[in-house]
Amino acid sequence: SFVVAPTPSAPRVLSIAGTDPTGGAGIQADLKTIGALGGYGMAVVTALVAQNTRGVHSVHVPDVGFLVEQLDAVSDDVAIDAVKLGMLHSTPLIDAVSDWLEPVRPAIVVLDPVMVATSGDRLLDAAAEQAVRELCRRVDLVTPNLAELAVLVSTDRAHVARPRTWSDAIAQARHLATTTGTTVLLKGGHLDGVDCPDAIVTASAVDEVPGRRIATTNTHGTGCSLSSAMATLAAEQLRQAPDEEVDWVAALRAAKAWLTGALEHGAALLVG
Ligand code: PLP
Repeated sequence: SFVVAPTPSAPRVLSIAGTDPTGGAGIQADLKTIGALGGYGMAVVTALVAQNTRGVHSVHVPDVGFLVEQLDAVSDDVAIDAVKLGMLHSTPLIDAVSDWLEPVRPAIVVLDPVMVATSGDRLLDAAAEQAVRELCRRVDLVTPNLAELAVLVSTDRAHVARPRTWSDAIAQARHLATTTGTTVLLKGGHLDGVDCPDAIVTASAVDEVPGRRIATTNTHGTGCSLSSAMATLAAEQLRQAPDEEVDWVAALRAAKAWLTGALEHGAALLVG
């Protein structure tokens, strides 16, 4: 057991996302992750989600004006080193977050393009998919799961081809990186098999980070946690070397090592 002591210069990381009252996913998972990795966590709620590890009961979305009030309250007071975007629900909320990001210009913006929970419940309006595609162009890292990646690269909603192999997945991630100019964290966890590779994919390079699959059903919110870990670790890199570019592959290695440990330890928890 160990304690991460807060330091005055801890990276200030803001999650803009939906809630999970069971604490496994969404903004609650983000705050735990940021704290576990030594950051100072902040949170702006896009949507209140009545859910647990089994599924979503209902979603309550405060009006977009209140979202903007929350965002301004943070940025009027606190310098933000990194932002993690999670559940954005619908086009008006995506537009409000984009408009807020422009003048604030955090050094790091990580987008987890949350669309559908594992339970099958929608967390993003289907009509907002194009707005998420456009948002990809304006962020530093996008962390889709395989289903979300397939939606982001498809031009026809009726024919979304979810990748079945790692090489198909890499091809789709390259396509997304090329068409949007962003960096993609490609996640292999939803493929079959004992290995669990991830990769950092840009228009010009693919850097694979191997991983082990952990036998556990306590995986609710792993995507939320990984994207928050990437935002926190990238902000910490910039704190240590402000003039250098973020090394996303190094951040992924560290995030994956932490998440693998969290999955191993979390396997014993009786939490849904
Ligand atoms: N709930 C919220 C608010 C989320 O943002 C996410 C994230 O992707 C999830 C749930 C995901 O749940 P699951 O890990 O069960 O797919």
